[in-house]
Amino acid sequence: MNDIRDFFDEASLIAAHDEGNAFDAVVPPIVQTSLFTFGSYDEMLATYRGDKVRPTYTRGLNPTVRMFEEMLAKLEGAEDAIGFASGMSAISSAVLSFVEPGDRIVAVKHVYPDAFRLFGTVLKRMRIEVIYVDGRDEEAVAKALPGAKLFYMESPTSWVMEAHDVGALAALAKARGIPTIIDNSWASPIFQRPISLGVDLVLHSASKYLGGHSDVVAGVVAGSKEMIGRIRGEAYPYLGGKLSPFDAWLLIRGLRTLPVRMRAHQASALEVARRLQDHPAVEKVCHPGLANRLPAGLTGTSGLFSFIFRDGIDVRGFADRLKLFKLGVSWGGHESLIVPGEVVLQQKAQPNSAMAFGIHPRSVRLHVGLEGTEALWGDLEAAIAAASANEDN
Ligand SMILES: *Cc1c(COP(=O)(O)O)cnc(C)c1O
Repeated sequence: MNDIRDFFDEASLIAAHDEGNAFDAVVPPIVQTSLFTFGSYDEMLATYRGDKVRPTYTRGLNPTVRMFEEMLAKLEGAEDAIGFASGMSAISSAVLSFVEPGDRIVAVKHVYPDAFRLFGTVLKRMRIEVIYVDGRDEEAVAKALPGAKLFYMESPTSWVMEAHDVGALAALAKARGIPTIIDNSWASPIFQRPISLGVDLVLHSASKYLGGHSDVVAGVVAGSKEMIGRIRGEAYPYLGGKLSPFDAWLLIRGLRTLPVRMRAHQASALEVARRLQDHPAVEKVCHPGLANRLPAGLTGTSGLFSFIFRDGIDVRGFADRLKLFKLGVSWGGHESLIVPGEVVLQQKAQPNSAMAFGIHPRSVRLHVGLEGTEALWGDLEAAIAAASANEDN
């Protein structure tokens, strides 16, 4: 898995690798090139005919991107994987590869807002209907599935963090011959391995934990050779949302520390969530790790969760008083972040609704980063105290 030449029958075609190896570099080189030249007419012809697989043009195949894909496939326990320029590119390419006009998709409620918007705009115009069911209600899922072309899951869901029994839901779809796709960005393959639970395609916003350093926007889909092959054959080259070699290189860097980072996010976020739950200013904490036992399929929890303030707390005052926690979208990096629900609900992008996303106006989404639990809790506690005092004035 560490030797990029394992993936190509003729390593000599990729000169940059050999050079990199000549330096005994511990980090693989970036094959930052748009095209690859051929040694002869016959070699070019063999490649065009498909008799020989080798990089020709980076939109189709690039060794650095391929290395990331192979690493991710191994992590997810999948036969293959395919990298994209963003998580949304991964979602749109995966979904569009398996539907056509007139089809129906069943999705769980409270999916990532831009996935919801993709379904409600582009797919809607293509006459592809998406219906939403509560993923915690297996009967409702079973009832909705017959006749569907795809089952789209995210667990835990965005913002409200509803965790589903991924294996049980995937089995319901499988029994009806319906492929299941899951967005596994939240748990990462460290804490949830959907392929082993019967899911067909697993996708990630690699911009989050896989990258882990808030310096790359990327996505990836993992699954069987057949299903990934279908995405690779059409949506990938023709929609063209190709992961760049440099971003793939950053992701390879990120994957090396993924298990260690995930354990640190888990420990810190769980502790902060427990303290928030005990805090008198807080009405509710949405974190799957607070249940008596972890939801089926999850083997751990990450750094992202949300909570709802009790009525009368000044959310603006809380947000502006924080020092370590920054106001910022996204998550999955080293830094701690908050997003106030009431701000998201005023976003202009359409469709936009508290109901679709489950966002309570008094809620705050937290990403607990790697700064250290006590420092982060001190920051939150001081800001909550200030926000509570504001109300008393
Ligand atoms: C961020 C995110 C996405 C979209 O990924 P991008 O890399 O921003 O395109 C998809 N799903 C979830 C759960 C996300 O948090």
